[in-house]
Amino acid sequence: MIKPHIQTICAHAGATPDPHTGAVTLPLYFSSTFHYPPTGEYPLGDIYSRESNPTRRALETILAQLEQGEDAAAFASGSAAASAVFQSLRPGDHVIINFDAYAGIRAMLKDVFMPWGLDVKFTDLSDLKNLSASIKPTTKLVWTESPTNPNLRIVDLISLIQICKQHQIKVAADNTFATPAFQNPIALGADIVMHSTTKYLGGHSDLTGGALITAQKDEMWERIRHIQHIQGAVAAPFDCWLLMRGIRSFVPRMMHHVSNARVVAEFLAQHPRVDSVLYPGLASHSGYEIAKKQMSGFGAMVSFLVKGSKMDAIKVAQRVRVFTNATSLGGTESLLEHRKSVEGPDSPTPDNLIRLSVGIEEANVLIEDLKQALH
Ligand code: PLP
Repeated sequence: MIKPHIQTICAHAGATPDPHTGAVTLPLYFSSTFHYPPTGEYPLGDIYSRESNPTRRALETILAQLEQGEDAAAFASGSAAASAVFQSLRPGDHVIINFDAYAGIRAMLKDVFMPWGLDVKFTDLSDLKNLSASIKPTTKLVWTESPTNPNLRIVDLISLIQICKQHQIKVAADNTFATPAFQNPIALGADIVMHSTTKYLGGHSDLTGGALITAQKDEMWERIRHIQHIQGAVAAPFDCWLLMRGIRSFVPRMMHHVSNARVVAEFLAQHPRVDSVLYPGLASHSGYEIAKKQMSGFGAMVSFLVKGSKMDAIKVAQRVRVFTNATSLGGTESLLEHRKSVEGPDSPTPDNLIRLSVGIEEANVLIEDLKQALH
C-alpha cells in the first residue's frame, strides 16, 4: 500500500551523522548570516538565510525525495508556496483550476492575482470535458487538487496530465490531502507538487509551512526559486526542523490515519442521519475507480452530508466531544468542521457538509463520538 523506501527516507529524515559532531538528528541552524571570504564566493554554500539555510536545505532535500522530484523549495505556508507558482506566471496568462479547490487559494486568485492580470477559469476538473473546453492559446497552467477540499472529488490526474502535455500546459498538483504516502503526482507526469506542510507532513498541528517540489529544474522553477529568494516567504529554521521531526513518523501515522478513516467512512455510510459520505475509498464514490488507479491509499479526510438543513449539520458539529471543532487537518487529533460556515456564502460547499480530519485515536472512540453526535 505504501510506496517502497518511503518509510526509510522518512525514518532517517535526511540525517546522516553530522560530520562535525556525530549528531544523529539534524542540527538546527538559526544563524541568519554566514561568513564568506571578501572575494564574493560562498564555498560553504550559504550567505544569508532568506536565500538559503542548512536546516531548510536538509528539509528541501527530503521533500524532493518524498515526491520523487528533482528539487524542492520550502515556504512559510502552503499559501505562500501556491502564491510563488502564480507569481511565476505573467499578466495575461490563463490558469485553469478546480471550482471547488481549497477556499484560500480560490480567494488568493480572486483577490490578488486576477486584479494583477491573471486570467483564471474555475471549473469542475472531475469531468475532463470541462478542461478541454476551457483551454485557450494563453493557458499556461492547470492547478489541480485531487481529492478536492472539502468535497473529495477525484480528478483523473493521468488523463489531465496527458491533455496538458499535448497543449504544453504546466500542471501543478496540490497533494496536501493525498500526501506522498498515497499519491505522487510527479510520478504520474505533473510538473509541480504543492503541499501545505502544516497538515500531514508536519502532522502535529504545531507548525505552519508549505512546499513546492518540481519534476525538473526548468525555467519556471528558476523563476519560482528567484521569487522564494527575493520575496522571502521562506520557512523559518525552527519550523523546518519541526517538520523534519514530524516526517520521521509520517508513514506509520498515515497508516493509522487511513485505517481509521475507512472505519469512520463505513460507519457514516450506514447511518440513517447521513445523506451521503464523500470518501474516495468507498466503492459508492463516483471517483472510486480513478482513485484506485492513481492512489495507493485513499487518505484520511472524510466529508459527509447530514440529512436536513445547515442547522442540523451545525448541531451535529456542536455535539462532538472527542473530535475538536477546528479548521486545518492532518494532526494526530481528529478535527471536525462545518465548512460552509468558514468558507462563506459564495462557496460551492453544500450547507449540510461536515468535514472530518480523522486522527489516530482508537477507531471505536471516534465511532462512539460520532454516534452520540448524530443521535
Ligand atoms: N491546500 C489545501 C488543500 C489546504 O487545505 C490548505 C489549508 O488548509 C492550503 C493549501 C493552504 O495551506 P496553508 O494554510 O499552510 O497556507
